[in-house]
Amino acid sequence: PIQEADYIWKNGEMIPWAEATTHVLTHALLYGTCAFEGSRAYETNDGTVVFRNDAHVERLFYSARMYGIGIKYTEDEIIEATRRTVRENGLKSAYIRTNAYLGYGEMSPAAANAPDDFVIAAFPWGRYMGADAIEKGVDVAVSSWRRLAGSTIPAGAKLAGNYLSSRLIAMEARRAGVTEGIGLSHEGLLSEAGSANLFLVKGGKLMTPPFSSSILHGITRASIITLAKDLGIEVVEQEMPREMLYGADEMFFTGTAAEITPIRQVDGIEVGKGERSITSALQKAFFGLFDGTTEDKWGWLDRVGN
Ligand code: PMP
Repeated sequence: PIQEADYIWKNGEMIPWAEATTHVLTHALLYGTCAFEGSRAYETNDGTVVFRNDAHVERLFYSARMYGIGIKYTEDEIIEATRRTVRENGLKSAYIRTNAYLGYGEMSPAAANAPDDFVIAAFPWGRYMGADAIEKGVDVAVSSWRRLAGSTIPAGAKLAGNYLSSRLIAMEARRAGVTEGIGLSHEGLLSEAGSANLFLVKGGKLMTPPFSSSILHGITRASIITLAKDLGIEVVEQEMPREMLYGADEMFFTGTAAEITPIRQVDGIEVGKGERSITSALQKAFFGLFDGTTEDKWGWLDRVGN
């Protein structure tokens, strides 16, 4: 269950959590027309920070414009409203969910006059894939469901409707007794999980599928690429066949929720020899941003002002 906070920012106002409701015939509920972001606030020695607040807001605008979802606020207003939502809820750390969606008032996918609604919620949330997943890793399987094809629903825009694919992958994974499923692109190449990007290590190189393999342009993915290069690790974004999974030395997921979650086993086959030197170095660099052991050279930490 969601751990409720006190307030939600809705259409420019902070309102009580329980009053942040919507009509059952809201366009986004009928057709999935909700552009959204999931971001995280971390507690640091300098107070609470939103990780890459600006990058999330930028991607939100990218997602919304393609589907004709209007946003009545500027990027700066949303960045500040996000800080305020964390701050006024008294949260030290949080998961933040920002929705720009078509509201109630008009039926049909073609609706041109449905209202543009906007909410920001922040609430406490722990480890997405289980308490010890970050340390021990998770077991996964390739899904029989392919990811969205770019010519049908673009995977780079983050819309609620896309997550029907994630749900199918998640349900199948649960039935198979694994934590997550890896989706292949419609061409059968490695793509991503239902809610996280995929990386593998082979011969000391860090490899990850490119945008053309139907992936979300993950902000954690981009951050890990930057951190890896900073550590002198070679990074290759390239299309990869499924068989790369079984010969990888290390493998992990990245995402706002998943953070950096190692993969222990795929389709019943152990990943590499169980060593995780590059994964561990990247985990250290990433989590170090929040305990001050990694210098924030890129201005990624946005203070909420608590
Ligand atoms: N892929 C999908 C399908 C996702 O839902 C997410 C989570 N937003 C990611 C990748 C990771 O993206 P990010 O690092 O921006 O959270």
